[in-house]
Amino acid sequence: MADTQYILPNDIGVSSLDCREAFHLLSPTERLYAHHLSRAAWYGGLAVLLQTSPEAPYIYTLLSRLFRTQDPDQLRQHALAEGLTEEEYQAFLVYAAGVYSNMGNYKSFGDTKFVPNLPKEKLERVILGSEAAQQHPKEVRDLWQTCGELMFSLEPRLRHLGLGKEGITTYFSGDCTMEDAKLAQDFLDSQNLSAYNTRLFKDVDQEGKPRYEVRLASVLSTDPALDSELTSKLKSYEFQGSHFQVTRGDYAPLLQKVVDHLEKAKAYAANSHQEQMLAQYIESFTQGSIEAHKRGSRFWIQDKGPIVESYIGFVESYRDPFGSRGEFEGFVAMVNKAMSAKFERLVESAEQLLKELPWPPAFEKDKFLTPDFTSLDVLTFAGSGIPAGINIPNYDDLRQTEGFKNVSLGNVLAVAYATQREKLTFLEEEDKDLYTRWKGPSFDVQVGLHELLGHGSGKLFAQDEKGVFNFDQETVINPETGEQIQSWYRSGETWDSKFSTIASSYEECRAESVGLYLCLNPQVLEIFGFKGADAEDVIYVNWLNMVRAGLLALEFYTPEASNWRQAHMQARFVILRVLLEAGEGLVTVTPTTGSDGRPDARVRLDRSKIRSVGRPALERFLRRLQVLKSTGDVAGGRALYEGYAAVTDAPPECFLSLRDTVLLRKESRKLIVQPNTRLEGSEVQLLEYEASAAGLIRSFTERFPEDGPELEEVLTRLATADARFWKSPSEAQCGQA
Ligand SMILES: [Zn+2]
Repeated sequence: MADTQYILPNDIGVSSLDCREAFHLLSPTERLYAHHLSRAAWYGGLAVLLQTSPEAPYIYTLLSRLFRTQDPDQLRQHALAEGLTEEEYQAFLVYAAGVYSNMGNYKSFGDTKFVPNLPKEKLERVILGSEAAQQHPKEVRDLWQTCGELMFSLEPRLRHLGLGKEGITTYFSGDCTMEDAKLAQDFLDSQNLSAYNTRLFKDVDQEGKPRYEVRLASVLSTDPALDSELTSKLKSYEFQGSHFQVTRGDYAPLLQKVVDHLEKAKAYAANSHQEQMLAQYIESFTQGSIEAHKRGSRFWIQDKGPIVESYIGFVESYRDPFGSRGEFEGFVAMVNKAMSAKFERLVESAEQLLKELPWPPAFEKDKFLTPDFTSLDVLTFAGSGIPAGINIPNYDDLRQTEGFKNVSLGNVLAVAYATQREKLTFLEEEDKDLYTRWKGPSFDVQVGLHELLGHGSGKLFAQDEKGVFNFDQETVINPETGEQIQSWYRSGETWDSKFSTIASSYEECRAESVGLYLCLNPQVLEIFGFKGADAEDVIYVNWLNMVRAGLLALEFYTPEASNWRQAHMQARFVILRVLLEAGEGLVTVTPTTGSDGRPDARVRLDRSKIRSVGRPALERFLRRLQVLKSTGDVAGGRALYEGYAAVTDAPPECFLSLRDTVLLRKESRKLIVQPNTRLEGSEVQLLEYEASAAGLIRSFTERFPEDGPELEEVLTRLATADARFWKSPSEAQCGQA
């Protein structure tokens, strides 16, 4: 059996991305706009296969052929007849679903390879005996021969993405080293070319001198039929004793389809910003111009608060071992109009709700300013993985002059928290149903309160450059000390500059605490549509979830460095500590032994004590947080916060040991099933799939109904054209013989 590090477990969590409500609240035109952008994203997303490993496009094609001919249930019959066990067939489905959702055979988070968790000979029997193989024996056999070995290989160099001897990458030909990558970057810089949409291929000429091809992604190839700012750069260069050739046309057939759908989307744009943005993206993908993509991104930033949000291009450079080449991604997300209406009502009630917070009015802003917060539901996220939030564009020059957008992806966050009942760790049996039932609704309440009233509340006492104070020094009293205000922010000082390393975690903790505190308010719960017993359940689950989240947060603590790697997680642990400190049995965290004989733990929250014990404890804590923040008291703030954030093995909780339990019980990253959209007449339909590996496979089988076989041909043709760049010298010689 393969090392568990390199397989996806059979019981891997699979969740469906739920965007039904948001989609159905779109107007017909908005749906058409979303549909064509979604098509563009999915086509472009296939380029990620070519950006990952030499074998990924073949694996994708092989899987698509198999499942296009026989759906997962039909193939199961055949597989069992071939002697596979149910577990082995499930392992194959999970592998296939993993390849689709990572757009390749390397995990998008962590960049390690994953291989099918069943014997290779058995998989070979399934593939070669499949309906697809009977219909096209040569093609299927060739595909298997091309990728079968690499699919299973865990040769050390192939275990993760990397450059040269360090790993495998297709951003660079196989013989490129870090020195080549640096030289190429210097060359690109010298020509004022961006690396974002490029790949680098190295060759050796007759005299043994290296020749580099810098290939840009574009529909057009080297033929300079259409003149653009780029065509003059498509030529040969001598640079530091090496030969460079700038070409274009990488992923051309895929980008052609991207452009076709961006053109169609343009007809349904909501405003001229969107139209101009799409025109520039079309120019960018057609010509291979990052400058055009930057211009498009500028219009994108100016398109504030659209109903249908999107971004598309060569965006994130995490997976280039050198860190400058962007992986293709495209997403379409929608404002959930129903949720936005609730958030708006929360903002309308802000003035009144802020009075409920446990600090004197002088510590509150003179006028409430709605924080910059957008929550969208994702319809499509094509690429190697789905983040829970985005903060783009990545172009530094644009970020400084034009700004950026910071968007939380609500239904992706919901997936991360939606755990099947049987996989819910650390909860009492009797809490699990309630938790499953109310987790989503309570999460919405907490997010709204956290983002709008949490981050939106509280005042910083300051003195400007002219010496003028923004508070009355005579009358304002510090409720913690009973004295006048002794400290404040001087001109030029900010929250971040003063509190530096703890600033973001402290602020997240304040916002989370505001959420827990204000969710006790009946008016808030009514805005979200909850009354009576339901409202009480929402409160209980929101608090229970915070307690559990505080325990789960320990995953993000590094004992060796006594350091938290994640501000939000640290904040939740701090709140758990505060509630534990409240005593009276409000919260208990107890180490236990699981039914498997291994360490486990239980968290409990006494719901009868939330108001009597929890609320006053939270009130004291929140007041201290705010007062220390308002007065810029760094020493006091640090002492308070770092005290709670310290992780020790002190009884009764023994958090350091519990951390091992949390790591042991950690759920592996879920696979996410995304819907398809389909144009029927002039209407766009939303097609949804069940949350399982088979459902995920079906969503991909139906993703390209018009041109699936053509895309498979395109992918293998593009991969084959460059295959020689990743063959070892001996293989290459065999090929030539
Ligand atoms: Zn926050």
